[in-house]
Amino acid sequence: MLNNIRVVLVGTSHPGNIGSVARAMKTMGLTNLYLAEPRTEVDGQSIALAAGAADILQNLTKVDSFDEAIADCSLVVATSARSRTLDWPILEPKEAGEQLVSEGESGPVAIVFGRENHGLSNEELQKCNYHVVIPANEEYSSLNLAQAVQIVCYETRMAYLNKNRKVEVLEEYPMQKEQEQFFEHLERTLLSTGFIIKNHPGQIMTKLRRLFSRARIEAQEMNILRGILSSIEKIAKKD
Ligand code: SAH
Repeated sequence: MLNNIRVVLVGTSHPGNIGSVARAMKTMGLTNLYLAEPRTEVDGQSIALAAGAADILQNLTKVDSFDEAIADCSLVVATSARSRTLDWPILEPKEAGEQLVSEGESGPVAIVFGRENHGLSNEELQKCNYHVVIPANEEYSSLNLAQAVQIVCYETRMAYLNKNRKVEVLEEYPMQKEQEQFFEHLERTLLSTGFIIKNHPGQIMTKLRRLFSRARIEAQEMNILRGILSSIEKIAKKD
């Protein structure tokens, strides 16, 4: 999925920046780099600054125009140091990361970075769905290209990790319905052993519910408890 998230550099003129961008991307798990109408070549300086991320430079895609770099993307997000020169939908870096990750599930999406000296043109900015402005110092808001890439890639990674974490949580813990089934099973068993007396149940079930809620029982643990209850029921029935 992270492979669907494309970093597009437009009109980059410093070879060192291209290398630093590769490193910024690889540390955050992104690999897909496009150079649109670059004003320089990848050279020894790029490779030196890429350090262990030279593979990203080897596999990058070079295209002649900005349009070509984004043609097959369903979502295109542009970055700009200048806020609100155009009245365009703006995303916080964190929101941009979330959007890229969620739309990147179904196909290619792009995050675009501009020229070191004058960013992206208004025409280019207007071809993008959203603009991202890193909320930097208003008196000095222009970050180095690779550092801007690092921040957006970091937010993208955070969004990606959070997404996977949520899925894990869903798998790990039993659904509400299963918890209810467990408590019914527990009550049934305690009635069959005589621990709970039908006409005088007291607060036992409420207290047990509280105990098990506090323990945050995982799905597998709940299965074990259900097994234990079944084994007790079997013996209680024999008696
Ligand atoms: N002087 C240029 C700044 C170019 S910096 C200008 O006024 O636009 C090179 C690129 O880094 C920008 O085009 C943008 O892609 C990115 N960048 C730098 N600072 C940024 C910021 N505060 N928010 C978002 N992107 C930024």
